[in-house]
Amino acid sequence: MHEYPITLEIIRIAVETAKEKNAQRVDKIALVIGDLSGYVGESVHMYFDEISKGTACEGCRLEITRVKPKVKCTSCGEVFERKPFSFECPVCKGHAGPTRIGTEFYIDHIEVHRNKGDNDGN
Ligand SMILES: [Zn+2]
Repeated sequence: MHEYPITLEIIRIAVETAKEKNAQRVDKIALVIGDLSGYVGESVHMYFDEISKGTACEGCRLEITRVKPKVKCTSCGEVFERKPFSFECPVCKGHAGPTRIGTEFYIDHIEVHRNKGDNDGN
């Protein structure tokens, strides 16, 4: 349920971006969500459909890229997706520790719809 405030924030940023670029609506929002971020893409989607109604984001495409967590070998530095119940490095059989990979949560980019008649050269 904690996706609600974060989804609200995403929409606020997207609406702001559209306004800055003098666009009437948002075409696409690309999000990156790591599996360890604590946020669930499906929930963001669900809230997004609700909250975006009546805003510049209504009907826009919400593209979510999931990032699987990776660990890093403490011996050779290999970064890899670990198998369930295993921290063994596939290269040197060493022991792997956690990384920040998989904890991401950010807006990668926002695409806005350019109004017809724009003549600012963009
Ligand atoms: Zn290794």
